[in-house]
Amino acid sequence: MAAACTLAAQTHYDLLLKGGHVIDPKNRISAVRDVAISGGKVAAVAVNIAPSLATKTVDASGLYVTPGLIDIHTHLYSFTGDHGSMADDHAIVPDSFGPREGVTTMVDAGSSGWRNFDDFKTRIIDRSRTRVLGFVNIVGHGLRGGKYEQDLNDMDGKVTGTFALKHKGVIVGIKSAHFAGPEWKPYEQAVIAGNLANIPVMIDYGSNRPERPISELFAKVLRPGDIYTHMYSGLRGEQAQNGGPSQAVIDGRKRGVVFDVGHGSGSFLWRVAVPLMKAGFIPDSISTDMHTASMNTTMKDYLNVMSKFLAMGMDIDSLILRSTWNPAREIKHEELGNLSVGSVADVTVLRMDKGKFGFVDMNGARMDADQKLVCELTVRAGRVIYDLNGMTRERWDKLPAGYKRQGDATWDGYLGGRSQH
Ligand SMILES: [Zn+2]
Repeated sequence: MAAACTLAAQTHYDLLLKGGHVIDPKNRISAVRDVAISGGKVAAVAVNIAPSLATKTVDASGLYVTPGLIDIHTHLYSFTGDHGSMADDHAIVPDSFGPREGVTTMVDAGSSGWRNFDDFKTRIIDRSRTRVLGFVNIVGHGLRGGKYEQDLNDMDGKVTGTFALKHKGVIVGIKSAHFAGPEWKPYEQAVIAGNLANIPVMIDYGSNRPERPISELFAKVLRPGDIYTHMYSGLRGEQAQNGGPSQAVIDGRKRGVVFDVGHGSGSFLWRVAVPLMKAGFIPDSISTDMHTASMNTTMKDYLNVMSKFLAMGMDIDSLILRSTWNPAREIKHEELGNLSVGSVADVTVLRMDKGKFGFVDMNGARMDADQKLVCELTVRAGRVIYDLNGMTRERWDKLPAGYKRQGDATWDGYLGGRSQH
């Protein structure tokens, strides 16, 4: 009897997602599987797990069950007081958006620099339920607007790299963005910092300058594993005269440069994306460049950007790879973006809606489509942080009269609380 009790204790799960189509690219799974969660971790992934072993069983049939989505280009450092900047009015609060779009890890793309990253960490990172990580800007003040962002004297690779080491694991890379000058300094200093801290750099290549063509950026400055974001803007020589990918980006990919979407409000054009996709120049990672302007115009959210790639013919397995395991590897967090047993239970459940949908690019041109991804459920470290249709909840008329708030190991009614990094 005692032995039976011990066995039961070992195999007890908090939550069982049953019968969903699991897509876990790291483990090469794309099939109907059950996923069991216990103590905030993935406890089992198998063809048939008995509901009797779980406190709560949820029917996920007809839905996709994937690792929590990872968005490596967002802007989350608000309230610096710098009107109109990415580090103020344009930034969003992570928990106001991540859970409802199935994103469990949001990476801030250099909104702060070494001078103000600690403030970002105290006020945003440490308070969010969504896991928040960051690229630190090569500019000490970060993205506080023009006069800061163009200041070559505030770009110090040694200081920035040394600072990044102090926040190992939280600072996942070095960012350069919005630079307008002809100088190479921002990019060279970013790489110096990246080498010091052993992390990648992410490049928003700013103004298109003939003095620093992307061919030279890829050949002479960036290292394998460094990330070129805004790959489908077409603003800096990504596209050849014939419409396909330029020789520069083809050579860059051969050298190991990583290409990221970074959709934003001004970095995604159908006339660039469609021919580059057709020619096989597909993104390594999907990202939003989430900020108040992009989310309320053409980008909208992570799932909308994913759905644009479905509309261009990308298959769902490839899409999930580029939304989970690939971005996890790019930021050197290989414990994320997968459903391996023992890994943190960041899990997203998606529905493919069929109907009439339209997707708009940065210049206001629409592509029609007949399907779109919707987030049904988001689980972060084993806890439900978003449940669109209450799939994990009991029917009201099955509960006893006078029922109180239904809290359990996977749900606390979203009463708030700190993140579990
Ligand atoms: Zn950005």
